[in-house]
Amino acid sequence: MADTASSSADGSEQPLRYSRQTLFKPIGQDGQRSLMTARAVLIGCGGLGTIVADILVRAGIGFLRIVDRDFVDESNLQRQVLFDSDDVAGNLPKAEAARRKLERINPLSEVEACVRDVDSTSIRAVVEDVDLILDGTDNFETRYLINDIAIQLQKPWIYAAVVGSYGMTTTIVPGETPCLRCLYEKPPAPGTVPTCDTAGVLAAIVHIIAAHEATQALRLLCRVSGGVRKEMIYSDVWSGEHKRIQTMDSRVTDCAACVKLQFDYLNAERGSMATSLCGRNAVQVSWKEDHVVDLERLAETLRASGQVSVNPYLLKFSGPDAAFTLFPDGRAIMEGTSDPKIARERYARFVG
Ligand SMILES: [Zn+2]
Repeated sequence: MADTASSSADGSEQPLRYSRQTLFKPIGQDGQRSLMTARAVLIGCGGLGTIVADILVRAGIGFLRIVDRDFVDESNLQRQVLFDSDDVAGNLPKAEAARRKLERINPLSEVEACVRDVDSTSIRAVVEDVDLILDGTDNFETRYLINDIAIQLQKPWIYAAVVGSYGMTTTIVPGETPCLRCLYEKPPAPGTVPTCDTAGVLAAIVHIIAAHEATQALRLLCRVSGGVRKEMIYSDVWSGEHKRIQTMDSRVTDCAACVKLQFDYLNAERGSMATSLCGRNAVQVSWKEDHVVDLERLAETLRASGQVSVNPYLLKFSGPDAAFTLFPDGRAIMEGTSDPKIARERYARFVG
């Protein structure tokens, strides 16, 4: 399908649909041309992911691969802008539902749907032929994996996270900025940080953080002068607090990832393991590194989502979306599934 073309002052032809964007001087015709040949991958297509994909495809990105392992669920519709009730009724995978919607929005962009889990064995294949990696995930483990592969392949990536009413985002350019392990050496211990499934999330903060993430992507992919902003944006839409945090002093001189090139997550020397328990319709999720989980504290957070009982040795949770037993070292038996991927996804949602 061809769009109406418009002639600009310099005589170049660009589809009319991009006219308001090319009029914006820092992008202009040159930036638009770069964007139209640019390739990016979005890992995770939830709240942040759908908004980032919507902005970049409307803006005319050349190619966007959307990787997501999940299906559209009714509880997604409050904030995940590319989905509607028909996608829930049709039981569509998020990546495919997003691709169908985006194809109608801008047929000039190529969108590829990739319905799969990203782990240390599969991540290389989805990122190696793109210019930029976009974080739309909901868990730290995948972010540390993205950090490893981005450094190994020397590709920029944009970190973004939201929960409750606040969120943050920063762009990581290997060799230029601190990496995720410079900023946070280790992922938070299981159960110590709130997740969207335990603390909820407001749609408005997802829009704010996704808008910054997409704009940083445009700065990179349009190759604008000045490049990316090297800072972290923090915003809380409920309190109205908004901060720009300087990160350039945070480079760690002996960082395991970006200095020593020790890719612990990519080499699966850190992170979680999931093993199906024979004949039990359950999966054990455990950790390669040491963790200490505050079961009492996690029990308080989980009470809003289901039934919880806790003693010093274990926590038992049972709710409409998951049932599990969690031990103080972070190990869990996830009930009701024999699929390690589903078990890890539920663990990430409810334990963190
Ligand atoms: Zn680093």
